[in-house]
Amino acid sequence: MKRIAILGATGSIGTQALEVAREHPDFVKIEVLTAASNAELLVKQALEFLPKTVVISDESKYQWVKKSLSAKAIQVLAGNNALCEVVKDASIDMVLTALVGFAGLEPTVSAIQAGKDIALANKETLVVAGEHIMSLASQYGVHILPVDSEHSAIFQCLTGESPESVEKIYLTASGGPFRGKGRDFLAHITKREALKHPNWVMGQKITIDSASLMNKGLEVIEAKWLFNLSIEQIDVIVHPQSIIHSLTQFKDGSLKAQLGLPDMKLPIQYALLYPDRPANSFQRFDFMDYPQLSFEKPDLETFANLRLAYQAVQQGGNMPCILNAANEVAVAAFLNDEIGFLEMSAIIEESMQLIPFILSPSLADYVSIDQEARKIARDLVTKKKKVYQIEK
Ligand code: NDP
Ligand code: MG
Repeated sequence: MKRIAILGATGSIGTQALEVAREHPDFVKIEVLTAASNAELLVKQALEFLPKTVVISDESKYQWVKKSLSAKAIQVLAGNNALCEVVKDASIDMVLTALVGFAGLEPTVSAIQAGKDIALANKETLVVAGEHIMSLASQYGVHILPVDSEHSAIFQCLTGESPESVEKIYLTASGGPFRGKGRDFLAHITKREALKHPNWVMGQKITIDSASLMNKGLEVIEAKWLFNLSIEQIDVIVHPQSIIHSLTQFKDGSLKAQLGLPDMKLPIQYALLYPDRPANSFQRFDFMDYPQLSFEKPDLETFANLRLAYQAVQQGGNMPCILNAANEVAVAAFLNDEIGFLEMSAIIEESMQLIPFILSPSLADYVSIDQEARKIARDLVTKKKKVYQIEK
């Protein structure tokens, strides 16, 4: 029985993790559930799974949550610090990091320092501070199990293999809703169009990241740290059907791939229950539904974010943190109708140019780097917003 804390239980990954828990009551016990502000769903989940503790980050909802759960022996916490505290609880073995963005970093560090294994969905943590996180994990003897489908695929391909035998990996990308389009087209797309992913239903931020290929860029950086690879060993290949989740190529030329329907419940189950593979009722793959699997090269000219992510990780130091912070600001501004789709890349690129390079930031430095990058990116949004509103 694994005792699990889900940070971000009310989101896309969080709710699917609870479906996995529902499927495997003999393997999984939910001990902690957290949400940013969706108090109604959090309470509903708590009444079903009866965790030891729930956390609502939005303090204005604390009283309501507390009252709603008063008939049960469930501890209710609120506020941002609560996440870093709750992950240390002796009642849990593993923390699923299913919250979005930089906010995942500090609770993940706290969980590792408390010796908890991590089921890592929050890729931004590894993008920002991958080197520190991996060395902390080895220092505390903690396992980091990938939830991201591509990384789960690579992890599954590596089972039983020696790390030295890997020549390279291929991360597959669906290409998103704008695959094959040029910059002229992207200049006029709306938020509604960008939020329509062809294969996956996900939270808003990652859906926009998938449309801009930033998601793949973040995943390249995530893979570098998770699997201790050089950037030259990581290739991206567009595979529109999202059936091959990723591939590993070994030094003898052999390729191993992991395939399955685009359903996040599979990699979530693998991470939560590793190394077990208990049977489940999830939908099975049918070859006749996919008579053809196809592959293309990613278009780095049109989708500049993937190029910028490669650039950031090659530079190293504070650059991936700046890339991530500027991207979070740009995506929020795009979703808020303040800027157009292409301005997102421009804001990220300019932020990377404006902020001085630091080669070896400490883990503690990342909070201020993130804040500085957000401020610069916000200023750029304000400038571009005026032009965008006039052109619109
Ligand atoms: P969602 O937006 O659907 O859910 C995010 C969850 O985190 C919600 O429970 C939300 O609470 C909570 N949350 C958001 N911001 C904060 C914050 N600042 N502090 C505390 N809690 C917060 O996101 P996804 O589930 O799509 O993504 C989660 C992570 O998993 C991301 O890092 C993403 O890149 C990664 N991932 C997601 C995949 C997917 O299929 N969705 C696939 C692979 C990786 P509330 O509901 O109250 O707002
Ligand atoms: Mg992915």
